[in-house]
Amino acid sequence: MRSTFLPFSPPTIGEEEIQEVVDTLRSDWITTGPKARRFEQEFAVYLGAPGALALNSCTAALHTALVTLGIGPGDEVITTPMTFAASVNVIEHVGARPVLVDVEPDTLNIDPAKLEGAITSRTRVIIPVHYAGHPVDLDSIYNIAQAHGLVVIEDAAHALPAKYKGRYIGSGNNPVAFSFYATKNLTTAEGGMLTGDLEFLERARIVSLHGMSRDAWKRYDKGGSWYYEVMLPGFKYNMTDIQASLGLWQLHKLAVFQQRRREVVATYNQAFRDVEALELPVERPEVEHAWHLYVLRLRLEALRITRDQFIEELKARNIGTSVHFIPIHLHPYYRDKYGYRPDNFPVAYGNYRRMLSLPLNPRLSDQDVADVIEAVLDVVRAYKR
Ligand SMILES: *Cc1c(COP(=O)(O)O)cnc(C)c1O
Repeated sequence: MRSTFLPFSPPTIGEEEIQEVVDTLRSDWITTGPKARRFEQEFAVYLGAPGALALNSCTAALHTALVTLGIGPGDEVITTPMTFAASVNVIEHVGARPVLVDVEPDTLNIDPAKLEGAITSRTRVIIPVHYAGHPVDLDSIYNIAQAHGLVVIEDAAHALPAKYKGRYIGSGNNPVAFSFYATKNLTTAEGGMLTGDLEFLERARIVSLHGMSRDAWKRYDKGGSWYYEVMLPGFKYNMTDIQASLGLWQLHKLAVFQQRRREVVATYNQAFRDVEALELPVERPEVEHAWHLYVLRLRLEALRITRDQFIEELKARNIGTSVHFIPIHLHPYYRDKYGYRPDNFPVAYGNYRRMLSLPLNPRLSDQDVADVIEAVLDVVRAYKR
């Protein structure tokens, strides 16, 4: 057994990131400036996106997208219960009503077959979440959205870099929100990015920074350097150059990070493939998985312990794990406001009760991976039914 605790998801920060941050701190520009702008440009080029807007979180990107589209009271926004609260909180922030649709049993992504039944005359937006980094069934979702005149805002917090049918998630014209939170595939400690078409991003930029119109500057030849106009009560969501310093190097390293993630996944899959008590994550043939998370599902009927006990047993063996996610409809705010019962979304609920996420990050050594495997197999052996 391991002698030291293996943390679930530490960041992978190198000397290059540290030096770039120091360089920024020694410069005359520490908040949003040339590095944030360069990070936006390089990010857009990486994905083949029309453009990108750097913000201080994915939550801010999702909120900005909803406000820019004019979503508000009286509107309904469809999303998944199998996500982090931020995806749904932003719908509440704009005063709209979140409508949850249960997930597919294999990917745990929003189920397109159940979408149509949730659409009403008030539905305006669908927010699919690329759960764990596995792209949602975009073709089916876009067909439904188009038929009903809905906008799709993708929550791609896990999906950098992921591909659907050969194209990067975030390379299209619709709004797509990425997260650079400390645990995500690319981190700026806190941060996010919004991609989409240029006209949308231009309006989103105004929404995200006090509602200040830069275009107003151009209308005044003299005094343009100080003059601005507030077009709407916008937010304070800009990314600093200190954060962008991290992002620029993390983007350079992303391909190497992903290679290591895939190696770890292949090793886990090989080790767990024939274990009856374990169900492995899927990767459909038409996608490239970003492998943000390795979500193991327990076949509880083959074990004498619950998922919670399984996690405690791994912790006792010095392996850190997590659970992604406690479904939205179980949280008191949503449960009480909308009167949800656990079995309203049976696929999300049933899978929640048997899931855990194993350590998956580029810092894992071969020994770390072997330790995780040994611990998991040991717990299965000890508590097999
Ligand atoms: C992390 C996460 C977010 C929020 O990202 P922040 O950058 O922390 O705001 C949103 N959605 C999902 C699915 C996430 O995992």
